[in-house]
Amino acid sequence: MQKETLKKYDFNFKKKFGQNFLKDKNILNNIVLESKIDKDTLVIEIGVGAGALTLAMKDKAKQILGYEIDQTLKPILEENFINIKNIDIIYDDFLNRNIKEDIKKYKYKKLYVVANLPYYITTPIIKKLIDEELNIEKIVIMVQKEVGNRFNATINTKAYGSLTIYLNYYFEIKKLMDVSRNCFIPKPNVDSVIIEMTRRKDKFKVNNEKLFFKLVRDSFTYKRKNLKNNLKKYDLEKINNVLSKYNMDLNSRAESITIEQFIDISNSL
Ligand code: SAM
Repeated sequence: MQKETLKKYDFNFKKKFGQNFLKDKNILNNIVLESKIDKDTLVIEIGVGAGALTLAMKDKAKQILGYEIDQTLKPILEENFINIKNIDIIYDDFLNRNIKEDIKKYKYKKLYVVANLPYYITTPIIKKLIDEELNIEKIVIMVQKEVGNRFNATINTKAYGSLTIYLNYYFEIKKLMDVSRNCFIPKPNVDSVIIEMTRRKDKFKVNNEKLFFKLVRDSFTYKRKNLKNNLKKYDLEKINNVLSKYNMDLNSRAESITIEQFIDISNSL
């Protein structure tokens, strides 16, 4: 187990890096099983920690490329991964890497991201994975429960917001399981959830993506205000025309508008 090596190297967990390592074998096995990694898959893992998840995946994957910011984990991981040929680790800040360059040398058919994320940078990591256009087929990630609940929130709930729409635009999102805080060492103050995000094959038809995402963000600026107030700078007449098709008007709030309806509004502007 990794615990012994952590002890041997006198490892101190660093809160600033979001270090809560998974210790529950069942959860680890479930992640591997649910992610359906196979020998055609290159897996990117963000935040290797002591390698518990990496080791659980190694026999299933073709290759794993892990990122770990904490250099003090290097001797520990070198010991834990000794004689394992399909794990490479880059000791650097994932957010500063050129991922396309990093994965260029590998041959694979499918690219997955499977990770127990450092929670303090959950959104920047996902945004980077989207922006770099890496052709990722599937993302299976552990995130803080409250954040994960926003990913696949339904309309008219508190969790539904611009992040929900942003992610659902690119992915089909499914919650795989809840994970108790007791499954980690050290025990965090929050519970977690494992989310599966599969890239959409049939993309939504948006005329102007930049405008669409801006419209969505602006609509949610003040969650308690209605569209008329949040979208003052837009052509409200056009927006109202679209809303009326759905028996709604400018008094509606953003939280009651589906992604398809936002697209319809955006395409009318
Ligand atoms: N995968 C391990 C596990 O499941 O036990 C560790 C998960 S822990 C929640 C998150 C890991 O991400 C930590 O090891 C932390 O040092 C690392 N990390 C934090 N910020 C990072 C960054 N910007 N780039 C790469 N790794 C990072």
